[in-house]
Amino acid sequence: MTIKGQATVVKHTGSHYLLSRLPEWKLFPAVLRGKIRLKGSSATNPVAVGDIVSYEAEVPEAGVAPEMQITMENPAVITSVSPRKNYIIRKSTNLSRQSHIIAANLDRAFIIATIDFPEIKLPFLDRLLVTCEVYNVPVTIVLNKVDLYRESHAEMLEAFHDIYEGAGYPVMEVSALTGEGIEELREACKGHVSLFSGVSGVGKSSLIKAMDPSLEPRVGEISDVHLQGKHTTTFYEMYALDSGGFIVDTPGLRGFGLVDLKKEEIALYFPEMLKASENCRFAPCTHTHEPGCAVKEAVENGEISYQRYSSYLGMLDEEGKYR
Ligand code: GDP
Ligand code: ZN
Repeated sequence: MTIKGQATVVKHTGSHYLLSRLPEWKLFPAVLRGKIRLKGSSATNPVAVGDIVSYEAEVPEAGVAPEMQITMENPAVITSVSPRKNYIIRKSTNLSRQSHIIAANLDRAFIIATIDFPEIKLPFLDRLLVTCEVYNVPVTIVLNKVDLYRESHAEMLEAFHDIYEGAGYPVMEVSALTGEGIEELREACKGHVSLFSGVSGVGKSSLIKAMDPSLEPRVGEISDVHLQGKHTTTFYEMYALDSGGFIVDTPGLRGFGLVDLKKEEIALYFPEMLKASENCRFAPCTHTHEPGCAVKEAVENGEISYQRYSSYLGMLDEEGKYR
């Protein structure tokens, strides 16, 4: 007998996928048969973690639970991929212009950062925020290691809240070490699929373990040197939190956070500038030299953070660099 169903891709290893009917967490293997090509996509992976797929499976034995009969020897077959509400991609670092879909259908991205240890690089954070805006993924900024700098960097911490909450991003303070804020983070993840991202050293793995000690966050960077020369493939994976909700961990941010935007598009992805720009005299306006620019005015009177504006100017300057 053939059964049909819909499930979410929770893991992709070179040869097969693992699916689960979220929010249920019962994994079963599946393969792609034939060609599933998404229109207009140059991605090396047509099916990504987070994709909702339709599948068919052969279940020969009546009276035995179907999922018991879907095995590596008798995997389900993915027949189609549902339209994505969003997805984030990682550009190949070589010149092939290929891209890899890291994850699809994300409810939220948690960007983990620290004010110090390591010291935060605001232009980099802003670039990451722009990327999430481009991909249409809502962001929460999670400041980890507050145990280390809450007192020594009190003013910077306050300024950080002002800047980023002012721009419309929720900011949470947590410590994987002391456990502060971890319950709130679990709560924020409940019932959703969330991306966890952050430069290495900010305590991303520690946080995930603090949220659910049974998890071993790890992303295999599998280099199939013998197959394709120096080609490197990274596989992403979804984890189920025992407190509810699912997270997709991302490894180093190399190649993520770089999006191709035209000069006049960049400001569309700074939400506070987009809002202010309704009152610019010219449209489009680059918010640099134009007379009657409402964004520049908002920066001058402190409604828009100079820090964010300066990241924006930096991005204008670098436009085209990453193509
Ligand atoms: P990742 O590279 O982002 O996954 O970072 P890790 O989880 O490996 O953490 C990097 C270092 O920061 C480790 O030495 C952790 O013990 C330390 N660390 C992580 N979270 C905290 C925290 O909340 N407070 C303090 N003081 N140290 C932390
Ligand atoms: Zn303007």
